[in-house]
Amino acid sequence: MSTAYAVARGESVLFADLPSGLYIGGEWVKPADGGQIDIIDPRTGETVGTAPAAGTADIDRAVAAGSQAFRTWSRTAPAERARILWRIADLLEQHGETLARLEALDVGMPMDLARELTAPRAADTFRYYAGWCGKIEGNTTQTSLPDVHAYTRREPYGVCAQIVPWNAPLKMAAWKIAPCLATGNVSVLKPAEDTNLTALFLSRIMAEAGVPPGVVNIVPGYGAVAGAALAAHPGVAKIAFTGSVGTGKTIAQAALGNLKKVTLELGGKSANVVFADADLDRAVAGSASAIFLHGGQVCVAASRLYVERSIYPEFMARLVELAKKIVIGREAKGFADLGPMVSERHMRRVIGMIETGVSEGATVLTGGERHGDEGFYVRPTILADAAQDSTVVREEIFGPVVVATPFDGFEDALRMANDSIYGLGASVWTRDLSKAHHFAAEVQSGMVWINSHGILDPHLPFGGYRQSGWGREFGKESIDAYTQMKTVVTQLDPCPIAS
Ligand code: NAD
Repeated sequence: MSTAYAVARGESVLFADLPSGLYIGGEWVKPADGGQIDIIDPRTGETVGTAPAAGTADIDRAVAAGSQAFRTWSRTAPAERARILWRIADLLEQHGETLARLEALDVGMPMDLARELTAPRAADTFRYYAGWCGKIEGNTTQTSLPDVHAYTRREPYGVCAQIVPWNAPLKMAAWKIAPCLATGNVSVLKPAEDTNLTALFLSRIMAEAGVPPGVVNIVPGYGAVAGAALAAHPGVAKIAFTGSVGTGKTIAQAALGNLKKVTLELGGKSANVVFADADLDRAVAGSASAIFLHGGQVCVAASRLYVERSIYPEFMARLVELAKKIVIGREAKGFADLGPMVSERHMRRVIGMIETGVSEGATVLTGGERHGDEGFYVRPTILADAAQDSTVVREEIFGPVVVATPFDGFEDALRMANDSIYGLGASVWTRDLSKAHHFAAEVQSGMVWINSHGILDPHLPFGGYRQSGWGREFGKESIDAYTQMKTVVTQLDPCPIAS
């Protein structure tokens, strides 16, 4: 452990117990080439410290540590694996406030949101997968041949590279590590370069929980260096990636070398469809939170809003009124308040997208600009009048920007909702149950929410249609994704009774 962080704004206590090295083989080690990443507080723009950055030699070391650990971890009794996962969950909760403060500092989440999204959601995921450890089953099966005894087993792959984005770093790390360990695999986790703090703290929790050395290795580093080395590494058997479509495609290409198993949770441009018969109070509030929660830096953010024409003027007036009331800036502490974009680069990208939207014909109903000149804040933004083929309707913005369009009837709504290369999430607001379920069946999306948006839970399989990804996470689907099936066949002697 070390206290090697530069300290700003009284966060010395927060940083005091934070490991400062890469976590490889159960030890904290310095990057071989001394690599570092600046830690920037997006609420102020200040550099508050540095995190270690793994180079390719460190990745080799982490994969070797994982391979070594896999030999025993894959044979560890399921009940023991479950005990350890449960203990990780307990420790996450025990350190919940510290983890929330680290996430608020690193990502810029308002404190109440960080409290809710960080330790509790990560702990839920570890507990859910603790329950799976002893329930991974194969089958016995009949064959068309006489005296053949056959059964199947589900077995782990080995070293899994797990690469996560910056928007909910601890939660994403839990989504990856929990099913990986439950199934007897080992993890090399690479957090995003913009957000390493909770991942570093998690290495401490792994050690305290009794995770054997090398079973979880945590290697902060740059995508183009550490991420690329993992994606191409011949010692990695499976790669689980969450991030943008572009990086997902690069990773899929890199994985071809040794035909790694690949799961991809990618971007989205989720459609939020409000019919005229919806409960308007709920639909307006739900549509606001579907795009403005966490500044829209959410893979399922409902960034395309389609409202039935007869209620469009009233609905938009109410949504604009709500957007204007959102607390933004340094005062943002509440669950629904608006924190900053994660980095200056991302803030400039979001503002650039708004400007592109306007240049292509969109009208700004509210927002449309940076908030203040300290930190990386973008005002809640509602755009209207954008053509369906314009950039802001087609491309993921990943900021607090929604594009609203009126529609005429069920088919029109469905056509526009499905007119996207993405298919991660979709919502529909109506009091008509038949309409809601017909919409759910027809919309091309991995998740559909009815009279709600963005509910995610470890029990519920999650993933994307179209270019929003490959495979599913959560539920039993993750158990399948982290195991391969083996068929064992025995030729028996003829049965004594029959002969
Ligand atoms: P990103 O693709 O830029 O980076 C994600 C991760 O990939 C980071 O750890 C990064 O370091 C790494 N990376 C970058 N280049 C790499 C390379 N060449 N090889 C290997 N790894 C590399 O995405 P981001 O900007 O960090 O995150 C935002 C994106 O993530 C959005 O598109 C969002 O929709 C998506 N996302 C998806 C989900 C989901 O579950 N579907 C959840 C959260 C975020």
